[in-house]
Parts: sequence; structure tokens; C-alpha cells
Amino acid sequence: MSLSQVIKLSNQSERLANRKVNSVKLIAVSKVQPNEKVEAVLKEGHRCFGENRVQEALNKWPSFKENYENVELHLIGPLQTNKARQAFELFDVIQTLDRPKLAILLANLTQERGFCPSLFIQVNTGEEPQKTGVLPKDLDIFIKDCQSMDLRIDGLMCIPPLNEEPALHFSLLRKMQERNNIRFLSMGMSSDYESAIMFGATHVRIGSAIFGERVANF
Ligand SMILES: *Cc1c(COP(=O)(O)O)cnc(C)c1O
Repeated sequence: MSLSQVIKLSNQSERLANRKVNSVKLIAVSKVQPNEKVEAVLKEGHRCFGENRVQEALNKWPSFKENYENVELHLIGPLQTNKARQAFELFDVIQTLDRPKLAILLANLTQERGFCPSLFIQVNTGEEPQKTGVLPKDLDIFIKDCQSMDLRIDGLMCIPPLNEEPALHFSLLRKMQERNNIRFLSMGMSSDYESAIMFGATHVRIGSAIFGERVANF
């Protein structure tokens, strides 16, 4: 696959779902991809990227951002509190707000810095013990707690369990979005983004379908 093929298939799904063409944001997940491949996609004009590690993103994106305007960077991996300040400065969107301690820290940084990246809450829809994310039963209260700290929650994000039908998780996340009046839904990866678009994804996170298989496995 390639970026243009992914765009084509994503447009097809948008039409099938009666949604506006190009209304779904494609986040090109560039983690562990060689810089040449990332730069090739930048040269094609794509500007929206996702990284799952703060340190790796810090090594790569400041210089890309100098050379290419209007890059939009999404953090899609767990955020440790000792990296929060750096993430706050580098990322336009943090998709992995997943616990009260991090919310408090981000609220304090917002007060201090006078701005805040766009925030999505990661939901552990499969209730998997090894995965980060807010449990479904805790979500509504967590959203209210964030809002009471003046944190605006723009979206919800999920990573379905490997061996389950992703559509179940997409529809679950959508219900949570609707009942909490949240604007964006980040769901769907290389193997299932077409289905995610049918279920209302506003953001899909696509790595291998754009760049090819990752050499290292995270
Ligand atoms: C790596 C990653 C992706 C992209 O996975 P692909 O299957 O390569 O599309 C999407 N979301 C998250 C959270 C990831 O860590």
C-alpha cells in the first residue's frame, strides 16, 4: 500500500458511510520508520503524523518541523509523567490521557503555559490488564473531573484487543462519544480503518499500510 491508496480506500469508506469525502483525518504513524520514508510522505504533502514515544518524536520532529510547515503531531502512546512537559511542547494532540494523575499534571501545565494541546482520552474498551486507558465504567466521571479542572476533552481513542472483532469496540467507543458529547473519535489502524470509518471515526491511525511493515516491533 501507499499513502495514495490509503486515501483512496478511506474516501471509498467515507462515501459508503454517507460521510463527506476527506472528512476523516489520516494520521500517518511514523514510529520506528526510517526518516527517508517519513520525509517521502512529507514531500507528498501529508502533514498529520503520529508517534508513540516522546523521546523518539523529540529526536525526529523538531528538524522536520523546521523544514515543513503546518505539521500536526499526535501522541498515540502512553505518556509518563516525567515526559509530560516535553510532550506538551511538541505535540499538537495528546491522544493518551489515561489517568487522573496525568490530568492534574496537564491542568497545571496549562495554567503555567497558557495553552494546552488538544486532548483525547484513551479508553481501554477491552478492559485488558496489560493495556493503558480509562476503563469504560470510569469514563464519564473522568471526563467530568477533567472538565472541572478546565481541561477540554476533544476526543476519545481506543485500541481494540488483538483477537476480538474491532467493530464491537468501535461501536462501544462511539456510544461513549455520543453520551458525553465529545467531538472526535480516534479509532482504526491499518487492518481495520475502513470499518472504523463506518462506525464514525474522525481520526484513523495508520502506520504499516502507508510506510510498510515496521522493522522493530512495539
Ligand atoms: C503503531 C500504532 C498504530 C498503527 O498501527 P498499524 O497497524 O501499523 O497501522 C496505531 N495506533 C497506535 C496506538 C499505535 O501504537
